Amino acid sequence: MDYDVLIIGAGPGGIFTAYELVHCSTRPLKTAVFELGNPLNRRKCPIDGKKVKSCIRCKTCSIMSGFGGAGAFSDGKYNITNDFGGSLHEHVGKTRALELMRYVDQINLKYGGEGTRLYSTANSAIKQMCLQHGLHLLDAQVRHLGTDINYIVLENLYNDLKDKVDFRFDTPVASVERVEEGYRITTGDGQSVTASTCVISVGRSGSKWMEGVCQDMGIPTKSNRVDIGVRVELPAKVFQHLTDELYESKIVYRTAKFEDLVRTFCMNPHGAVVSENTNGIVTVNGHSFEDPARHTDNTNFALLVSKHFSEPFKDSNGYGESIARLSNMLGGGVIVQRFGDLVRGRRSTPGRIADSFVTPTLAATPGDLSLVIPKRILDGIIEMIYALDKIAPGTANDDTLLYGVEVKFYNMEVDLDENLETQYPGLYVIGDGSGVTHSLSHASASGVHVARRILESFSNP
Ligand SMILES: Cc1cc2nc3c(=O)[nH]c(=O)nc-3n(C[C@H](O)[C@H](O)[C@H](O)COP(=O)(O)OP(=O)(O)OC[C@H]3O[C@@H](n4cnc5c(N)ncnc54)[C@H](O)[C@@H]3O)c2cc1C
Repeated sequence: MDYDVLIIGAGPGGIFTAYELVHCSTRPLKTAVFELGNPLNRRKCPIDGKKVKSCIRCKTCSIMSGFGGAGAFSDGKYNITNDFGGSLHEHVGKTRALELMRYVDQINLKYGGEGTRLYSTANSAIKQMCLQHGLHLLDAQVRHLGTDINYIVLENLYNDLKDKVDFRFDTPVASVERVEEGYRITTGDGQSVTASTCVISVGRSGSKWMEGVCQDMGIPTKSNRVDIGVRVELPAKVFQHLTDELYESKIVYRTAKFEDLVRTFCMNPHGAVVSENTNGIVTVNGHSFEDPARHTDNTNFALLVSKHFSEPFKDSNGYGESIARLSNMLGGGVIVQRFGDLVRGRRSTPGRIADSFVTPTLAATPGDLSLVIPKRILDGIIEMIYALDKIAPGTANDDTLLYGVEVKFYNMEVDLDENLETQYPGLYVIGDGSGVTHSLSHASASGVHVARRILESFSNP
């Protein structure tokens, strides 16, 4: 065998697997990480707001791929909770899942995150205010690293690991096969390496590839969920009483009309809206910097509705993709619309956006989201905006900006046991690519969990 452990993907899942293997092993394990993107210092999105204003669909998206994975330029919000961010606790148990997330938090602090704030919903009066208006605030602690500190933590982790682990960047893995006593992976340029243990951590961007691997190897999967919605952008002052105390508030609302659940997601005080490219489809997201010098006057967050499908429909991601494609077709990428224009049933125009009191932080195409988002979902979003207006007056102002579409693709869920191991001994699937996690903290924690299991199996073969 060429290596002891092969890791596919250098996102948080892959990085924390490598970290734990390096730091907690009694004998050095020969480990390699294969990553289709670039090292951190060569990850550059060409959008500069001047020459390149919107996504030009690079072959490898620097926002989604490379050392740090999809999280590298994220807001670095590490939520320590079992209430959202994934279902790791269903595999490892609630206490252990929280213990793993706290362990990851301590490593982040050690590698550059010290001094960053840990927010908590415990004992918050905001919870009561939400309940009085039919809104439900979920329990969580959140460590906000911010995009800048998150980058420094990743840089420090890389410097720590680079001489102890073989990193192969710009090297997509094409296939994984079982061989006697282990696994062989073959890269896009036809090179093969073998190891007794293989950890797949390919994130959301690797979801299609992961599906193929499961099909080829006969690993059972299930898939039935996609979240569709918009990113809301408004003056930071409107949400300041929430963001100052909680930073990120995960609020859920049940619509009166359809009894659908709409929820806030990924709140970025004083942040910026960004576009992201997943498998050639441009959707919207957001982030913010810890450094006050890089703050904007706006806060952004997503409002999402989960769509769960039942048999015979199986392609929930395909459904989300076709809605995103529609917005890409009409707007050439992300569409932006004033809330006032949406409720009046008219499109936003460049003139109306320019006259708005809220200055967009993303150069998106003014348009009409009602031509893109299914009525039931859009009605739910509008209802929730009015509900939020009761706890944060100003949310339903005409000038509140809505960017669409925001789609959270959920990978199909790979059939895994409590060790996140497939039916094949030594083949693990972790992070967002497993369908078990959907967040930085859960993905990182899943990496630590699997690394500990691997260390056990090497010491007690
Ligand atoms: C803009 C943005 C902001 C976000 N903000 C937050 C936040 O604040 N808090 C939060 O909890 N979550 C956030 N998320 C989500 C978070 O980034 C992910 O949940 C997390 O990165 C998942 O980690 P992962 O290791 O499972 O996968 P990823 O981070 O996606 O990493 C997977 C890696 O595998 C590589 N890969 C894929 N296929 C292959 C292949 N065939 N061969 C080799 N390599 C491959 C990819 O290039 C990628 O680098 C954000 C995401 C985005 C895009």
